[in-house]
Amino acid sequence: MDTAEIRRRFTNHFAQNTTVGEHTVVPSASLLLDDPNLLFVNAGMVPFKPYFLGQETPGYPRATSIQKCVRTLDIEEVGKTTRHGTFFEMCGNFSFGDYFKEGAITLAWELVTKSIADGGFGFDESLLYPSVYEDDPEAVALWKRITGLPDDRIVRLGKSENYWSMGVPGPGGPCSEILIDRGPAFGADRDWDAGDRYLEFWNLVFMQDELSAVRSKSDFDIAGSLPHKNIDTGLGLERVAYLLQGKDNMYEIDVVFPVIERAQELTGRRYGADPVDDVRFRVVADHVRSSMMLINDGVTPGNEGRGYVLRRLLRRAVRSMRLLGYGDPALPELLPVSRDKMAEGYPELRSSWDRISRVAFAEEEAFRKTLQAGTQIFDLAAGEVKQSGGTQLSGAKAFALHDTYGFPIDLTLEMASEAGLAVDEQGFRGLMAEAREKSKEDARRKKGQHADTTAYRGILDANGPTEWLAYETLETESR
Ligand code: ATP
Ligand code: MG
Ligand code: MG
Ligand code: MG
Repeated sequence: MDTAEIRRRFTNHFAQNTTVGEHTVVPSASLLLDDPNLLFVNAGMVPFKPYFLGQETPGYPRATSIQKCVRTLDIEEVGKTTRHGTFFEMCGNFSFGDYFKEGAITLAWELVTKSIADGGFGFDESLLYPSVYEDDPEAVALWKRITGLPDDRIVRLGKSENYWSMGVPGPGGPCSEILIDRGPAFGADRDWDAGDRYLEFWNLVFMQDELSAVRSKSDFDIAGSLPHKNIDTGLGLERVAYLLQGKDNMYEIDVVFPVIERAQELTGRRYGADPVDDVRFRVVADHVRSSMMLINDGVTPGNEGRGYVLRRLLRRAVRSMRLLGYGDPALPELLPVSRDKMAEGYPELRSSWDRISRVAFAEEEAFRKTLQAGTQIFDLAAGEVKQSGGTQLSGAKAFALHDTYGFPIDLTLEMASEAGLAVDEQGFRGLMAEAREKSKEDARRKKGQHADTTAYRGILDANGPTEWLAYETLETESR
């Protein structure tokens, strides 16, 4: 079943529902909604937040959407697990004070188990495991009654796994997830943490509590019940696609794999021949797609915030191609392949193609220049360290690469790790801070004793906050 058909079935199931009522079909919002806590939309519920928070009243009691999502938090997982993309689409159904647990469970189970001939996903019931929050006996009883499954097929999980909140006082509630057993090749029996064996593909959030304090994912105070209880669910489109397409992972589905195929042609290497290469192929396919979707929504490469995320994704894709042995410009070959696959859902990829391709190709050019200048210096430095029996590249070297050749620290870290070396990051950061201090000092002297931050700003803009991780804390992926 191709991805487009999965989208259709999901939307129809909710739009035309007669059990709880029709859901209003809401188109995906941009990845760039204004939200002080989020760099990018990372879940289907984000555009509906004002309704859940009671700040605005929706014009409908029920909705369904297929929302574009980006999760930078998952970047290191890409290609290593079977299930994490930086870009993915979340199919959701939402109830704003309308139906609750019983409706949500009934509708989800129906779609998942209804035969393919009858318009469902046709999953084999004997492989499905609903999970519940351990303190939610109501959900346990409903799952048993609605599905007829025995008690030992309902998985009880704790707060950190199956209780949802936004990380701040406000609405919260238990979740239920639907897991599918993909067999012993993917992990041990009943090891629920083996996420690729018991693959979670649908999360149902039962928003029922009013939280007065949230200290961590597993430490919060429930002040009472919400006056209107809500439903927020998220089903991973790609996860369902690889299950239904008989593929091992989300990078092999119909809308992603063609990029890997093209990359095989370009590099002359074969996907499936070498585990290290395979991760690179998957990173290429994932990052090409997520970069394209980010540029489509208006992001341009830069040294801060969203622009820096895009820069890093584009550069990782290009570098992965180089590591696969392809040194020519790669994006002009790969990006159109991704566009052709994604344009069915997002036709603006075609009408905005001039802009999208220009932004992406220019970034690759700039990166090629950076690499050309810095790689030899890096190799030389790494060689010296190894020859002298060392295991760590000095902070001074990392700083020189940054200062003179424009190597972002994460590139140096990545290349060092590939060469089996560590980097004295603390030393690097010390030198960075010194350089900033010095340039502030210079600027102050120039302007006569007045503190002037424009020069400091300039340095920041030119070099960027190098901590990729600094942005991760902005994301609240609490379920
Ligand atoms: P996981 O535990 O596998 O990381 P999650 O619990 O973080 O997933 P949720 O926040 O519950 O995911 O999101 C709802 C659904 O969105 C998931 O059940 C999954 O199907 C899908 N999903 C989440 N993260 C990703 C991702 N990085 N790539 C693809 N699909 C994802
Ligand atoms: Mg996750
Ligand atoms: Mg989840
Ligand atoms: Mg999870």
